[in-house]
Amino acid sequence: MGEIKIMNENLANKIAAGEVVERLANVVKELVENSIDASSKNIKIELLMSGTKEIKVVDDGKGMDREDAILSFSRHATSKIKHENDLFFINTLGFRGEALASIASISNVELYTSKEGIGSHIIIKGGEILLNEKGNERRGTSIAVSNIFYNTPVRLKFLKSLNTELSNTTQFLERLSLSHPDIAFSLYNDGKEIFKTSGSGDLLKTIHEIFGFNISKNMNYIEGENYDYKVSGYISNISVYKSSKSSIITLVNGRVVQNYELQKTIKDAYHTFLPETKFPIVVLNIETDPTLIDVNIHPTKQDIKFSKIEELKNLVFDLIRQSLCNIDNTFKPYDEKPIKLEFSNEEIQNDIVKEEKKEYKEIVLNFNAEEEIKEYNEEEKTLYFPVGLALGTYLIAQSEDIMYLIDIHAANERINYEIYRKALEEEKITIIDTLFPIVIELSTNEFIIIKEHIQVLENMKFKIEEFGENTFKISSHPTWLKEGFEEESIRKIIDLIIEFRQDFDRVKFNERLAMNLACKMSVKANTNITLKEQEELINRLFKCEFPYTCPHGRPTIIKYPKYELEKLFKRVNV
Ligand code: ZN
Ligand code: ZN
Repeated sequence: MGEIKIMNENLANKIAAGEVVERLANVVKELVENSIDASSKNIKIELLMSGTKEIKVVDDGKGMDREDAILSFSRHATSKIKHENDLFFINTLGFRGEALASIASISNVELYTSKEGIGSHIIIKGGEILLNEKGNERRGTSIAVSNIFYNTPVRLKFLKSLNTELSNTTQFLERLSLSHPDIAFSLYNDGKEIFKTSGSGDLLKTIHEIFGFNISKNMNYIEGENYDYKVSGYISNISVYKSSKSSIITLVNGRVVQNYELQKTIKDAYHTFLPETKFPIVVLNIETDPTLIDVNIHPTKQDIKFSKIEELKNLVFDLIRQSLCNIDNTFKPYDEKPIKLEFSNEEIQNDIVKEEKKEYKEIVLNFNAEEEIKEYNEEEKTLYFPVGLALGTYLIAQSEDIMYLIDIHAANERINYEIYRKALEEEKITIIDTLFPIVIELSTNEFIIIKEHIQVLENMKFKIEEFGENTFKISSHPTWLKEGFEEESIRKIIDLIIEFRQDFDRVKFNERLAMNLACKMSVKANTNITLKEQEELINRLFKCEFPYTCPHGRPTIIKYPKYELEKLFKRVNV
């Protein structure tokens, strides 16, 4: 008897039907997940016209016997779920028995499969079996789905443009490849390779194969666990980022999932390390007891709910922060290598593949080198010295065999930001009386808001009183206000209180205030600073908790290793 069982009707009814094939990417998903379940090691996906004309999936999995092959096209057949309870412990991927049947009912399907040396060849059109004969004995399964929606032309109209369909499918398959580094995936559209992974089992190598060298060499490994969760994976440093969050990939027990809060936590962990509108590249594996998660069983979604989300968020946040603060995060300009996405002919393509293979070796070496740098980091920090100021803005500094360019405003901003952050978080606040009271006049509207939120200023230890119409008088203030900038700083605080009034969050308020004040109080670009001041700036910058970006996420330091300079001047052969 085959492995495919007919699902109990009650269970089947719990599963939403029909939505499986709304998008072409979902058809690809169903077919490829079947290949994964068949323990395939190589899965090739070939599309014609982004899949609108044909989707073909060829695998080397264990295949099906004739009986199962036919059964797989009948509604509610599945090899995964036998009991209703299994729905809540889903650890295998495909669990919707009706998927193949749904697909077959709206398209032409041609299936070749073989199991234990017995091959089958089946053709189905609009759900009707047209052919069922002995097929070849090639190991695995090949399934071609063509003319999708041919009998439901209305659906076809709802498909987005060919490019959008292709990009959805590509994105889905990239994520799937990252969750299965041990399977070799390849995707082709109209005969052109879109991407290919080697199935090496190495996550970093898979990241390299999908995102390219520039990204993979800027990824760092993280790992940690608490009582409920175990987290491991790769996160990007500050040198690379993306404009959309689509490269934040989270896997739970090997399955790609989406969770808004988790995604937000990852983004928050990068706060002030990346520009506000940019996103990191992250691939995280989360392992947990399946009873702690609730997979949304809606067939087209990847949503997940965690019952101990706070524990997970804290773990992920801390792991990312620790890593960002500890690794050598200096911005490296020579990591920037244009990634070619489109190839015009086979020849170029082969070259690129070769070149990337060679580069992959370098990654390994690079990482070893970085390990060493980490070890000597403490000593290295005392060895920086200034060379001079270029263009009034960029400080040239040097350590043993590395040249650095430091943006003096960004660097100064980072130093001040950390000073203000500390001062604002201090429990004991020292205050000072002003020589003359500081008088602040506001608009009526502003005055009302500040009056309502006067507590914020009082908590910060300002002595503030009403002083006539729409006016406040301040007669003492915390000592961290920079001398000569008291009124300006108080105005900034007032602006922020007005902005934050809706939902006031102490941590975010402090962060923003520190950011604004730091920018204001820092040396501007195009300022000549003396060699002594340059030295001071470098020393204080490297004493910062995180010297490598300004609080807005821009780099402060760009690194030019001697070797890279030698390459530029062709002193060494690359
Ligand atoms: Zn600034
Ligand atoms: Zn900045």
